[in-house]
Amino acid sequence: MSAISDSSLAVAADFVLRGARELVTMSAPPAEGLGAIADGALAAKDGVIVWAGREAELPQAVDLAPDGLDIDAEGRCVLPGFVDAHTHVPFAGSRAAEYGERLAGVSYGEILARGGGINVTVEATRQASEEELARLARRRYDSMLRHGTTTAEVKSGYGLTVVDEAKQLRAAATPHALRRELTFLGAHFLPPEYAGRADDFIRLVCDEMIPACAPLARWCDVFCDEGAFTVSQARRVLLAGRAAGLSLRIHADELARSGGSMLAAELGCVSADHLIHATWQEIAAMKAAGVVAVMLPGTSYTLGIEFAPARAFLEAGVTIALASDLNPGTCHCENLQMMISLACQGMKLTPDEALYAATAGGAVALRRDDVGSLEVGKRCDFSVLVAASRTELPYHFGVNLVGHVVLGGRVVVQDGVVTHDAPAPEPVQPFARDASPGAGGTA
Ligand SMILES: [Zn+2]
Repeated sequence: MSAISDSSLAVAADFVLRGARELVTMSAPPAEGLGAIADGALAAKDGVIVWAGREAELPQAVDLAPDGLDIDAEGRCVLPGFVDAHTHVPFAGSRAAEYGERLAGVSYGEILARGGGINVTVEATRQASEEELARLARRRYDSMLRHGTTTAEVKSGYGLTVVDEAKQLRAAATPHALRRELTFLGAHFLPPEYAGRADDFIRLVCDEMIPACAPLARWCDVFCDEGAFTVSQARRVLLAGRAAGLSLRIHADELARSGGSMLAAELGCVSADHLIHATWQEIAAMKAAGVVAVMLPGTSYTLGIEFAPARAFLEAGVTIALASDLNPGTCHCENLQMMISLACQGMKLTPDEALYAATAGGAVALRRDDVGSLEVGKRCDFSVLVAASRTELPYHFGVNLVGHVVLGGRVVVQDGVVTHDAPAPEPVQPFARDASPGAGGTA
C-alpha cells in the first residue's frame, strides 16, 4: 500500500522531503548552477537517496512506505550537509585571553616564549581525561551539526605523546551522529620537552606514535612550515604514515613558502591545506599530481593575514575545498557558513564556488564519494535553511541560517536544536585550565 503512488515503477522510499523552494543538489559545478532544482523534492531509503527531482514528479516517482517520514521544507532552500575537511576538534582549554593580547599587539613569538600559545592547549589536552575530551568533542560536534556540517575531518595533534595522541583519537571517535574522518597529526608542533631535538621527536612519531595511532585513524597529516617541521622531517612522517596504511594530507605553506605543497605533489597527498604562500609553481605541481587545495579563510581572518590564492587554484583547474580549521589558537569557529562568507570577500570566490567547495569539494578532499551532493546513491545528509535561497548564505553573515538538519535520513537538528539520540550533552564545566594565558599563531 503506497502513501503516494500506486505505480509499480515508483522507487520505494522510507523518507521524503518536499517543499524545497530551491533544492541545491551540487550535481553540477558552479558554472552550471550547482544542479539546483526549483520546487524540488527528494526521497531516500535506509539513509541513502533514491530519487531527487521536481516535487510535481514526486507522486509518480516515489512510493513512500506507510510509516515513512515525510518532511516539508515549507518553501525554504535545501543544501547538502557541509563537509568540513579540516578541523582540530578534540582539545581542552581556552585561548580567548591570548586572542585579546594578540589584538592588543603582543606578538605570538612573545606569547610562545613564555610558554603560552599552543603550549597551553597541549598541556590542557594532556591533563584532560579521555572522557573529558570526548565530552568537549561532542559539544563541538553538536555545534557543527547545528550549523549544517554533517561530515567532518578531525585531527589529533595536541597530545604529542604516544598515549595522548591515541587518547585524542579515541575521544574524537566518541559516539555521535556527525560523520567523521579521523586524522593522526602527531607531528603538529615540537613539544617543549623536545626543544632542540626535532629529529628525535620525528623518530618518536614514526617509530612509536604511528604504530599506536594508525589503527585509530584513516589519515596522516603533518605541519610542514616555518617554525614547524621541515620538508625532510615531514616526508619521513608521511612515508611512515603511508607504510602504516594511512592516506596522506599536509599543512603546507601557511606561514611561509616552505615546500609543503611541493612535498604534497611529490608524495601524492590527497590534500594540501592552508597554501597562503603557494605560487604558480606549487599550484602547477598540485594540479599535475591531483592534490586538492583546502582553503581555510577563518585562519587568515583571525590572524589578520592574507588569504590563500583560491582563484588561482580554480583557474588552474585544481579542486578546492573550503573548511573551518576549527582549533583553539587560530580559528575557534565551527560554522562553515561563516567560512563561505569569508571566502567570498577574502578570496573573491563567487557564492556558488564557495558553497560547492564547502560541500562537494570537501567530499573530494576526504575521498568520500557518498557525501557532498544530493544525488541518487549518496547519503541523505542535508540542511534546510531558514531562507528561500542559497544567495542568503554569504550575505546574511555571522548568524546561523540552518534551521533543520537531516543526517542519514533522520532529523538530527530541528529548528536549531539538536535532536539526535547520541549521548546527551552534559552540563558544561569550564575546564580548569581555561584561565591560562592565551595565545594563537600555530593552531
Ligand atoms: Zn590545521
